[in-house]
Amino acid sequence: MDAQEWLAADVTEVPGVSGRAAATLRSAFGVTTVRDLLEHYPHQDKYREIGVRVALGDAAVGQAVTIVGTILRWNVVRPRKRRMTIAKAVVVDEHGGRVEAPFFNQEWRVRQTPKGARVAVSGTLERFRDQLQLKNPKLEVLAEDADEQADEPEPVHVTYPATEAMPSPRIARHVAAALDRLPPLADHLPRGLREGRDLVDLDTALRTIHRPPHLDAVAPARTRLVYDELLTLQIGLQQRRQRLESGADGMDNDPRPAGLGQALLDALPFAPTAAQRRAFAELAADLARPKPMHRLLQGDVGSGKTLVGAWAMLAAVDNGRQAVLMAPTEVLAEQHLRTFSALLAPLGVNAVGGPRLELLTGATGSTRLRGLLAELAVGDVHLVIGTHALLEERVTFDHLGVVIVDEQHRFGVEHRTRLRDKGAKAAAGRAPDVLVMTATPIPRSLALTLYGDLDVTVLDELPPGRQPIRTEVIASDSPRRARLHDYIRARVAAGERAYVVCPLVQDSDALRVELPGGGDRSVASAEAMVAHLTTEVFPDLAVGLVHGRLPAAERDRTMEAFRHGDVQVLVATTVIEVGVDVPEATIMVIEDADRFGISQLHQLRGRVGRATAQSYCVLFSSVPDDNPRLQALADTTDGFRLAETDLELRGEGSLFDTRQSGLPDLKLARLARDVEWVARSREDARALVEADGALHAHPALRDEVARRYGEERLAALETG
Ligand code: ADP
Ligand code: MG
Repeated sequence: MDAQEWLAADVTEVPGVSGRAAATLRSAFGVTTVRDLLEHYPHQDKYREIGVRVALGDAAVGQAVTIVGTILRWNVVRPRKRRMTIAKAVVVDEHGGRVEAPFFNQEWRVRQTPKGARVAVSGTLERFRDQLQLKNPKLEVLAEDADEQADEPEPVHVTYPATEAMPSPRIARHVAAALDRLPPLADHLPRGLREGRDLVDLDTALRTIHRPPHLDAVAPARTRLVYDELLTLQIGLQQRRQRLESGADGMDNDPRPAGLGQALLDALPFAPTAAQRRAFAELAADLARPKPMHRLLQGDVGSGKTLVGAWAMLAAVDNGRQAVLMAPTEVLAEQHLRTFSALLAPLGVNAVGGPRLELLTGATGSTRLRGLLAELAVGDVHLVIGTHALLEERVTFDHLGVVIVDEQHRFGVEHRTRLRDKGAKAAAGRAPDVLVMTATPIPRSLALTLYGDLDVTVLDELPPGRQPIRTEVIASDSPRRARLHDYIRARVAAGERAYVVCPLVQDSDALRVELPGGGDRSVASAEAMVAHLTTEVFPDLAVGLVHGRLPAAERDRTMEAFRHGDVQVLVATTVIEVGVDVPEATIMVIEDADRFGISQLHQLRGRVGRATAQSYCVLFSSVPDDNPRLQALADTTDGFRLAETDLELRGEGSLFDTRQSGLPDLKLARLARDVEWVARSREDARALVEADGALHAHPALRDEVARRYGEERLAALETG
């Protein structure tokens, strides 16, 4: 059997893995093949050098030691008043020395390694009362039955993600048996790459990650396997991009020096930021190339992405083509229309004889829609802003040149593809230039992975004069709430406005907050809040309410009133999270803020601080202390730093819903930790695919990519 055949074999082929064990491996870890078993990697932060193996009589207190012996008995104690159990293994070594190894809340160990089991326990030796104890003990079972010759313990202790039915030592034994049978594994990585990146070979890496001869061997093994995961993913994405591009020629949307784009910049009441200017330059190069642009414009809230998008759309008009901007909601589409109308009016847009700008959403009336569709089809409307409604079959273009997709994470990639295909249909197979804009502060590592097929432009600068929003975490029941109310009243008198965001629409019996004095209350709801504020706190002010269950027309009316100052305090749910732009709003109050994720809170906070006035954000919480997520928000307004913090606190899978974001299930790579390798692998993948798209010169690597990220898998991953 060659190595690949063995890897593909069913895990029951591994000596010692019974049918029942296989069933457990499958249900607990999704392991069905030998390869799956070998990709069930040990916890990367739990490798532990087994201390010097000593007889207890020779060991000193404070020393890291490993004692080999037998479990004499277990003592299980339940300290009163503390909700925990302590299971203490009493281990005797061959010279009769005795040591206790306490395990907290792990009573299952008593069943798993019963009295009489031969074990190696390691830890730091301490004296507790009259007993010798091992602090933070690690316990390894050495041999199952007494007849078997006791193995020497491995020099480095590994711990696998395990369950009670399939504990770590058993996994280690199965893995060892699988590795013993594995013939030397050929390396699929081209030698030049491996040496260039100073990586260990595959066979060594795989064996070492499971059975390191010493601790220092772990990191290089891990790096090699991480690189493999990332490189194959990046190659898959680059190949896909190449396939998409080869199917469709692009078009030249070269911005004209005396064109509308330039006129827009000349007419601005402010100077573009350096970051915006960089974005114009990068976009101009893309637009001018006859290849379709696929670019992601990533910029924190308020960084001025809209201007960049508008500018790119005008390049299409300059070249006699049409442009579309797709927003995730009607409110945002309408807001963009307002912004664009103001920005573009000085250029003669929508003046008699000038280029035409129109709105197309699900709310567009049918008569109006019929006319609009006809005008779009013949090219009489040049700029269109809309929602998902733009994707409908009946929407056609004369010649679509530029597509802007705002707030990408609300759309699947298939949406962007669908818009592009509409353009291609109109332009005899030539794909328009596509710009995706997102305010989601995606850490660079994640962006490079998620959007592996896009080029990335970052607006890493806010317009001048913005004062950082001051953020405070305050206890929900703090007397400071009354002072906040006075402050809001004063700011409103000065022409400013406030948002009050609640996690729920209505009070709930199920979602409760425990009160410190006993009893509980509902998590804050918008309806209860608006009633309270209107009657008890701000009877003299106009308090409005928006949430997702209100009819769209009513919501829009209230938003409009807030924009104009007819409503001064707006109680809302997260419907206002994305993109809403009311520059006079300077106070953001978020109730039960711990109910929201970091990136969501950051987006909500981004609704204030949109002009030069000092803005404030108050995060009310029933757990204001020791709350690292809320503290992170109070400490910085930098969305990218917050995203990194979020990644660290929660792991990447949860930054966005994994499936929704299409994040691949990387087994070993951790994007936050391996950001450099994400960048390196992307660089290497690009070079490989550019030189030889089908990887003819590297058949082993090609097969590895196909195995891990076949076309089907990638397509699923992208459309999420
Ligand atoms: P976002 O990136 O969140 O979409 P916007 O495009 O809505 O940001 O811009 C936020 C605000 O900043 C808008 O009112 C916009 O007019 C303004 N703005 C954009 N660019 C600049 C600039 N270079 N200088 C000053 N204000 C700017
Ligand atoms: Mg925006």
